[in-house]
Amino acid sequence: MKSIKKLACLALLLLAKASMATTSGEPIRHVNTTEKVVALTFDDGPDKPYTEQILGVLDKHNVKATFFVLGGNAKANPDLIKKIMASGHDLGNHTMSHQKMKGRTVEAMRNDIASVDKILRDLGYEKEITFRAPFGITSPNLKEALQQLNKRMVLFTFLPQDWTKISAQQIYDNVMKQMKPGLIITLHDGGNHRENTVKATEMLIENLQKQGYRFLTVSDLLKLQQ
Ligand SMILES: [Zn+2]
Repeated sequence: MKSIKKLACLALLLLAKASMATTSGEPIRHVNTTEKVVALTFDDGPDKPYTEQILGVLDKHNVKATFFVLGGNAKANPDLIKKIMASGHDLGNHTMSHQKMKGRTVEAMRNDIASVDKILRDLGYEKEITFRAPFGITSPNLKEALQQLNKRMVLFTFLPQDWTKISAQQIYDNVMKQMKPGLIITLHDGGNHRENTVKATEMLIENLQKQGYRFLTVSDLLKLQQ
């Protein structure tokens, strides 16, 4: 009996350690794995008509992705959030209105991040909601806010610059130049005209699938972290 208790204690301790390690507030930029897997992520939406167009491309190729949404956009487009959920994609938190986090108090950041979570929960989202900082900028206060919320931050190793006025081919090339297993690909489905992002998404999926890559949601990719 005693040894069972001891084992239970040990398991709890390990669990506590594991959760501490994942909520350190330090950003996850890619996942170390030798498996041919990548995560497609889309920021700044949901937005019409691009989120729907991207959902169409993902569905056509049976690919699951992760949408780091703005709370304001989610509130304005609950139908799009429901479509994202219905197709089995992950949702992430990208703040209410894309304000820079730097210079804000821990409390202000925590309230901002929690407001987005509430919108997504009220719309029925039940999975883990990871966080991506606007502009990828982190700070000690942000780290503290995320620790208080027990929330993981998911950033990227590079940005393919799809918000600049480059062609779909250039977006595709920017990603492929840095392609490796465990990559977190960061594109944008909101904020401006995203026709080229929609096209580049299809090019990336078709070519990477030919190369044997599988597309995972961020939460599934994180499970492979070695
Ligand atoms: Zn953004």
